[in-house]
Amino acid sequence: MIDLRSDTITRPTEEMRRAMYEAEVGDDVYGEDPTVNRLEEESAQVLGKEAAMYVSSGTMGNQVAILTHTSPGTEVIMEANAHIYYYEAAAASAFAGIQPRPLPGDKGILSPELVASAIRPDDVHLPPTSLICLENTHNRGGGRIVPLENMRMIYNLASQNNLPVHLDGARIFNASVASGVPVKEYTACTTSIQCCFSKGLGAPVGSIVAGPAYFIEEARRWRKRLGGGMRQAGVIASACLVALKTMIDRLADDHTNARLLAEGLAGLKGLEFDPADVDTNIVIIKPQHIHPQQFNEELKKRNILASVMEPDMIRLTTSKEVSRRDIETAVMAIKDILIN
Ligand SMILES: *Cc1c(COP(=O)(O)O)cnc(C)c1O
Repeated sequence: MIDLRSDTITRPTEEMRRAMYEAEVGDDVYGEDPTVNRLEEESAQVLGKEAAMYVSSGTMGNQVAILTHTSPGTEVIMEANAHIYYYEAAAASAFAGIQPRPLPGDKGILSPELVASAIRPDDVHLPPTSLICLENTHNRGGGRIVPLENMRMIYNLASQNNLPVHLDGARIFNASVASGVPVKEYTACTTSIQCCFSKGLGAPVGSIVAGPAYFIEEARRWRKRLGGGMRQAGVIASACLVALKTMIDRLADDHTNARLLAEGLAGLKGLEFDPADVDTNIVIIKPQHIHPQQFNEELKKRNILASVMEPDMIRLTTSKEVSRRDIETAVMAIKDILIN
């Protein structure tokens, strides 16, 4: 099977497995796991923040950040297709008690003017705005890179209004590698950030949340409340250290493969698709004459796995588990489905 469902399917490398076997550990809830401590220090440094905290998933990272930044009855501005709005089972409503304020973006990119107009004035009738969330790269936007200048304008706007900005940077390293913009320049436009080790970077488990020291201190209490305090977590954190050290630059290969896929699919009849929309490792296509669920079934018959993004999209994601050869096979399979 050629698995293009997600970059979460990546398996740990040999070096990661060795590091996991050999990891020095302690009780991380006591702050005594040296490997977790090292991961948190190195991540904070790489992301240009004062402090960082290891969490079990990207969803937990985003939710801990929202819980830390906001209080119930306030409003959080986010893009209408954001992962936080779309794919986290309404956790921010269920746990933080916030009201999401989804704003339509252009393939995930919010206009600063629209964000400005959504910040609530002080009025007893209105929910106070407490946070702005951004996502880079943008998953439902097709792995779109949110331009640095766009982030900077929104961050400045937020600062003028004393609002924090949280970046769902599950794939921020994809954005950085593809654009050539150092990751610290993106994170300089955010108060806090969540980024995933378990996607293209190939580690088996975990994400990091980074931000100011006071924020991480309070975030630790929220992680504990959510049941996210882990004990000898150095066993899994060790693989994330290897991911930081060895897996970032190779994301360029995934981008090359996604580009190859995009070019192979360009101009095919029966597909709504513009190869210019592909910035990183995600390719989203819209079959025009066949239901996406059925399209997916047809792919499966040809030994290819993809994911359906409701209502009408198919997502194809490249990762270290997918070779150039696999991409060529996938292109042929898609052509075959479209002509039959
Ligand atoms: C995958 C993803 C997350 C959540 O990560 P999990 O580890 O699956 O909880 C958050 N945001 C974006 C943009 C993602 O792609």
